[in-house]
Amino acid sequence: MTASRFFRSFVIPAFSLLLFSHCAMLGLAGPLLVSESDESKLGAEFNTQLHTDPAQVKEYPVFVANTPERIAFQNYVIGLAQQVYGTIPAKDKPGYAFTYTLIDAPVENAFAVPGGYVYIYTGIIKTMKNESELVGVLGHEISHVTRHHYRDALAKQTGISLLYQALVGKDAGQLTQVVAQAFGTLASLSVSRDNESEADKYGTKYTAASGHNPLGIANYFERVKSPGPAWLSTHPAPKNRVETVRTQVANNSGYSALAANAAVTDYQSRFDQMTAVIRK
Ligand SMILES: [Zn+2]
Repeated sequence: MTASRFFRSFVIPAFSLLLFSHCAMLGLAGPLLVSESDESKLGAEFNTQLHTDPAQVKEYPVFVANTPERIAFQNYVIGLAQQVYGTIPAKDKPGYAFTYTLIDAPVENAFAVPGGYVYIYTGIIKTMKNESELVGVLGHEISHVTRHHYRDALAKQTGISLLYQALVGKDAGQLTQVVAQAFGTLASLSVSRDNESEADKYGTKYTAASGHNPLGIANYFERVKSPGPAWLSTHPAPKNRVETVRTQVANNSGYSALAANAAVTDYQSRFDQMTAVIRK
């Protein structure tokens, strides 16, 4: 079921009984139920808990940059994410700033939560072969946020309770409660295959815009066969994902030129050098 059908068939009728005064608002598109400001607050609460709640600190061990090499590695990954984000036209960017966090665990995953908080494990970076693959995955995650996929998924997965509280409970106390209940949900939001395709498309576009081989994500997917890493469990694979990206690249002469020049645009030696510290 698509997000809009979900809202039309279920959320809107239920809410119209509860929230008569919000009827005009509910007549608008479903995603408006969770505003950018709500996304931002939810994400900030999630990020604070990830860094401070003992259980979450254990589950998500944040990368400690305590040596020059580790500092350089962290700056490298965050710098690439910022480079990708920098290629996105202003009109497509949300109002909030993005925050990138490295998680130091052998998990092949990357995820984001609403509000521009993007997390990537050292475990997935270890499985990558070059910079264009890393940029492809970062571009994909960033696209989920800029296209508001996680907001839609959140609305779908948590249903009325969270939406109701997000809508009417604007104070920090209630919001903290909402995030406490939804922490696991936020960390494992599963988006639709359509949204996955869109994130592949935009991620590929941004990978090319940053001067990298736009086939990076396709090359990564081609190598990590099913059932694949944890990343695929929250990123349901669209049909013909690799071919779709290849077609997108083939149909754009600029993208094709970057792909043909992969010996340069994969930035493999820089990637090998900068990620050596996590392979020790
Ligand atoms: Zn995805």
